[in-house]
Amino acid sequence: MLNKKSIDDIQVKGKRVLVRCDFNVPLQDGKITDEVRLVAALPTIQKLLAEGGRVILCSHLGKPKGPDPKFSLAPVAQRLSELLGQKVIFAADDTVVGPNARKAAEELKDGEAMLLENTRFRPEETKNGEAFSKDLASLADVFVDDAFGTAHRAHCSNVGVTQYVDTCAVGYLMQKEIDFLGNAVENPERPFVAILGGSKVSSKISVIRNLLDKVDTLIIGGGMAYTFMKAKGQEVGKSLLEADYLDYAAEMMQKAEEKGVRLLIPVDTVVAKEFANEAPSRVAEGDIQPDEMGLDIGPKTCRLFAEALADAKTVVWNGPMGVFEMPNFAAGTIAVAKTLAGLSAVTIIGGGDSAAAVNQLGFGEKMTHISTGGGASLEFLEGKELPGVAAADDK
Ligand code: AMP
Repeated sequence: MLNKKSIDDIQVKGKRVLVRCDFNVPLQDGKITDEVRLVAALPTIQKLLAEGGRVILCSHLGKPKGPDPKFSLAPVAQRLSELLGQKVIFAADDTVVGPNARKAAEELKDGEAMLLENTRFRPEETKNGEAFSKDLASLADVFVDDAFGTAHRAHCSNVGVTQYVDTCAVGYLMQKEIDFLGNAVENPERPFVAILGGSKVSSKISVIRNLLDKVDTLIIGGGMAYTFMKAKGQEVGKSLLEADYLDYAAEMMQKAEEKGVRLLIPVDTVVAKEFANEAPSRVAEGDIQPDEMGLDIGPKTCRLFAEALADAKTVVWNGPMGVFEMPNFAAGTIAVAKTLAGLSAVTIIGGGDSAAAVNQLGFGEKMTHISTGGGASLEFLEGKELPGVAAADDK
């Protein structure tokens, strides 16, 4: 069980606290178009300010290769000031930790906040370089990581910096992710069902392997299901197929049988001759014709999956059941989201596409936890140690 030092375990009064947040928000003409991530960061920031910490916020935004005004965090500082109801000083340094940042950090009083410029303005950020890690650490007495979305990467602002700061804790957001994802996988209330979908088997090999050791039932839908169907001897026409992974799929089905894990794949699919929302479609049971492709799970499969989920106590879902971006092929993903919404179980949605699907379809509120990190949540499900989590002090 991961037991990391949290912000409830540390004293911050009068201390400079560097907080790595996830302020990677979408911007259009300098305006923030979705502030969910800013709002999600508030509890940690407010707690540190209320305790009398001198809060120095930092984050990356987009993927600039160096200083680039288009990716400045200035709009974030302004909006955060409004959300917090107090000024967040913006330290506009192209080097992130430059004269402005140093001066502001020095003058910061208890309960005041400032924000550094986009950490990606320093190209060493993504290489976990020593100089930038030390620069960041030089501003702070305490480090808090609250950016789960980058926890699967070892960068200066979440990993390198921890080598040069004595006290490193996790914030509330990060704690929540660790608690839900970690608990679900390592200590689930059973029956534990995992649902995997999305386009590729190849991107979820380790997830499948790891989950087969943990779950009672594994449900496979979406584009990746066709490789499993083909491995079982069914024709899949023009559907997504990863021929290199047929043996792997067969091996996983065999492994499931040996372990007594119920592995379910679609028994019918919605097929069309073109990859287009308006393409005429039909439900195929059994073989798919050579000129057809499967774009969603069929109604029988929806019922099969719902039955398998009925008595679940823990459910983890990663990846849509079909091409949910096209309304005519979203029914399978909607059906699974609806089923989950009606369960009295712990329901955890991996980040990325599944989180987008659940929110877009209006079921966000009904889930126990929707992860904020796509790649990071996937690596958690793979059973990997996330560098950003590992770098925080243990309790
Ligand atoms: P991933 O990024 O691997 O989680 O996959 C998500 C993508 O898989 C979404 O954009 C879906 O449209 C796509 N997808 C799901 N099912 C299918 C399918 N049957 N055929 C093609 N793409 C699919």
